[in-house]
Amino acid sequence: MKFANVEGSRREAEPGLSGVCPICSAAMLAKCGEHRVWHWAHRGIRQCDHWWEPETSWHRNWKNQFPSDWQEVVHRAENGEKHVADVKTVHGRVVEFQRSYLKPEERRSREVFYGSMVWVVNGCRRKRDLSDFYESLRGRQIIATGLLRHLVPLDQSALLREWSDSRVGVYFDFGIVQQDADRFGMPVLWRLSPKSQNGLAVLSPVPVASFIGAQRNGVPVRGFHVEVIKRTAKFPAPTVYWPSKRRRRRSTSWSQYKARLDRARARRRF
Ligand SMILES: [Zn+2]
Repeated sequence: MKFANVEGSRREAEPGLSGVCPICSAAMLAKCGEHRVWHWAHRGIRQCDHWWEPETSWHRNWKNQFPSDWQEVVHRAENGEKHVADVKTVHGRVVEFQRSYLKPEERRSREVFYGSMVWVVNGCRRKRDLSDFYESLRGRQIIATGLLRHLVPLDQSALLREWSDSRVGVYFDFGIVQQDADRFGMPVLWRLSPKSQNGLAVLSPVPVASFIGAQRNGVPVRGFHVEVIKRTAKFPAPTVYWPSKRRRRRSTSWSQYKARLDRARARRRF
């Protein structure tokens, strides 16, 4: 975890600090190594919240998009059950960042427990998730009424099938994917609408910045307007996705990617 209680206040892990777990009050050690993000761990292998998954830098980067007192908030149900929400906004919404596989029953019990929540799902856990997802998108049908939404088949993507009966919004994070960058001009998440039906999923691209802003301000997440995309897209035709090359480049930051794109565009003029 990122926070533990140290002499009554929430503190991040620092070398030499010892603290107390906000859920079970057991002693915690500050783990400040080179390989993983600095974090707090229970002594031994004890883990009091079985919903908690080992934190990666992906989790940590996402949490850090929100004020620190919204991060790792202990959520109590009426029956006394307690869990730590990755982010709970002042508007009462829980945002959970999920990287590892979740059994359907477990996913449903978390959705019931938190009530008002959304998922942000790491789309790069398994090798095929990214390529299967974009392959599904190639068979898309655009539902062209105002905000851009696509209807895509569920059968090609295990990731989509696993999340298709969620009753809350699910946002897939694939990092920076060139075909999205070309089409939308900014990093996006893909929102899967709740409760897919008839083997079809409804997917909408959402700017990452709009997602974060909406959670911070307690307003609805805004997608792209179909007409705006038609006007501004530099390369409107969908490009074929080649996973092997892209995957190696995934660690490129958005600003690096943008600079490369700008350089390529500048060269093309001459
Ligand atoms: Zn604990």
